[in-house]
Amino acid sequence: MMMMQKKNEIADTSMLRELSNAIGVSGDEGNVRAIVLEAIREHVDEVTVDSIGNVLAFKKGTGRQRLRVMLDAHMDEVGLMVVGYTNEGLLRMRTVGGIDARLLPGTLLKVGPDQMPGVIGVKPIHLADEAERNKVVQIKQLAIDIGAKDKEEAEKLAPLGTYAAFDTTFREMGSAVSGKAFDDRAGCAALIALLRGERFPSDIHAAFTVQEEVGLRGARVAAYALEPDCAFALEGTIADDIPKDKDVSPTTELGKGPALTVMDRSFIADRRLLKLLTETADELDIPYQFKQPGMGGTDAGAIHLAREGIPSITIAVPCRYIHSQLGLLNLDDFHHTIQLTRESLSRLTRRILRRN
Ligand SMILES: [Zn+2]
Repeated sequence: MMMMQKKNEIADTSMLRELSNAIGVSGDEGNVRAIVLEAIREHVDEVTVDSIGNVLAFKKGTGRQRLRVMLDAHMDEVGLMVVGYTNEGLLRMRTVGGIDARLLPGTLLKVGPDQMPGVIGVKPIHLADEAERNKVVQIKQLAIDIGAKDKEEAEKLAPLGTYAAFDTTFREMGSAVSGKAFDDRAGCAALIALLRGERFPSDIHAAFTVQEEVGLRGARVAAYALEPDCAFALEGTIADDIPKDKDVSPTTELGKGPALTVMDRSFIADRRLLKLLTETADELDIPYQFKQPGMGGTDAGAIHLAREGIPSITIAVPCRYIHSQLGLLNLDDFHHTIQLTRESLSRLTRRILRRN
């Protein structure tokens, strides 16, 4: 059993690498979907892709509990979209999902389905005057350079609506790993690991969803279709144990275990499920932390309001610098997220959902 677990965990890191390196901006998740389908096909009883592009997989339970449990992770990542051209052949862009314009100058990109190299150009320091050097550039002042010689060539190479994604390669860094899109490829990799393991007492309905970053859209469709008794959203969330102006307690911290949401901007966690997670963690000595209430939102925000209401919870791997070119996560946090979810699912009963 221990050997099994170890083997699975090693596989998870390589899956995380593959998923992080894949390009899948909201609405264009095909590359990620292909990896997910390949990774789970042999380990689930049924798998379909729905009309919006969600991957829905069914793994029958052992029959010990008659519960339909939805496990959710979103496949999409934030990115950019081409919305126009300059006469010089640069691409005007808009963000897809929340990206801070301050981060963008100098960014390397992969543009379009063929992943053409691109860069968000910046005025050389020699030409910038004092005022410019101290001012943040607005997104409308920025453009993507794909080396096109003029507007016509730019239009031909990157038609309106072409996606661009961060060009970042997964790396190992100390006890952490870095890469792009850990929000939410960390959740996807965790969900894949769970599906690849032993059957759970309950029936598992996994949803790898689309378009979370633009408004929790895929999850809404999936939750309606699956009609689960309860739902777990697996996420990569904000860790801000980084230098700050004010000395406030961090949202989450790296290395302190999976982050459990009590309340964010999209939902309030189901207390019964939250209790199941904390009791399981305490019993097994799995570290965990509560995410500072109030920030962000997850697919659970859409799922808990589906149908007649679905008890939901979010469990997340803390990631530094999310929604940027490069994030950092701690591998122990990642493995503990999988372990805590797995153990909690093994202890989940219909009675837990009945108690108030
Ligand atoms: Zn997310």
